[in-house]
Amino acid sequence: MLEKILEKISGPIAAAFSYQAEDAAVLGLLSELAPNLRDRIETFTLDTGKFFPETEEYHGQVQDFFGLTIRKYQAGAADLRELEQTLGEETAVRKSLENRRLCCKVRKVIPLSSALRGKSAWITGLRSAQSVTRANLQPLEWDETNGLIKINPLADWSDSDLEAYLNERKIPVHPLYRRGFKSIGCRPCTRAVEPGEDLRAGRWWWENPDCKECGLHRARQREAGKLKRDPGVLRVL
Ligand code: SF4
Repeated sequence: MLEKILEKISGPIAAAFSYQAEDAAVLGLLSELAPNLRDRIETFTLDTGKFFPETEEYHGQVQDFFGLTIRKYQAGAADLRELEQTLGEETAVRKSLENRRLCCKVRKVIPLSSALRGKSAWITGLRSAQSVTRANLQPLEWDETNGLIKINPLADWSDSDLEAYLNERKIPVHPLYRRGFKSIGCRPCTRAVEPGEDLRAGRWWWENPDCKECGLHRARQREAGKLKRDPGVLRVL
């Protein structure tokens, strides 16, 4: 399905890598594409400056495993200075939803716009089984905020589909998964989960589950009808 969609889309494409097991599986799928399709894809990450030390190490491990470069996009120095002056200590993001969203906006949402500028589509590792906020996820969506097609090749993958794919190909996953983490994020906002908790329960654990998105995926689906601009893409589904 991914190959058919990519053949229908012209122009450069971005693949988001945020250190999740799902993103590693997406890189696995991309590595199996024909070179003419693969070469049009830029793999990127949003470097928030708040990574766990293990994340830096894993970044290099994934680059070596797939033989690619994962480009880092970051907030500008002036924006970061202003954010730090406004919020003060890094745990201020836990004091209000407003603080947390401001931090995600500066460190993730604005750099994402830079990563997607000039691209025709972007590929994510989102799965509908991950959380209530992703329950209606579709394999192909229109990203209204950034004005491009969003491809979610793992939209209907179960936890066991993901595990089987990664194990079969011996694809490395982030080392924090071995310490009880089920989703990888920034150091101040991510913890390991307890048995029986939701996969994303360790992200912004102090917030209501309905608002636990960083702003990168909030506008999903809102105007899925805009995909009709490119009916050729829809026909492959
Ligand atoms: S996840 Fe936390 S530290 Fe990272 S950008 Fe969002 S609020 Fe800031």
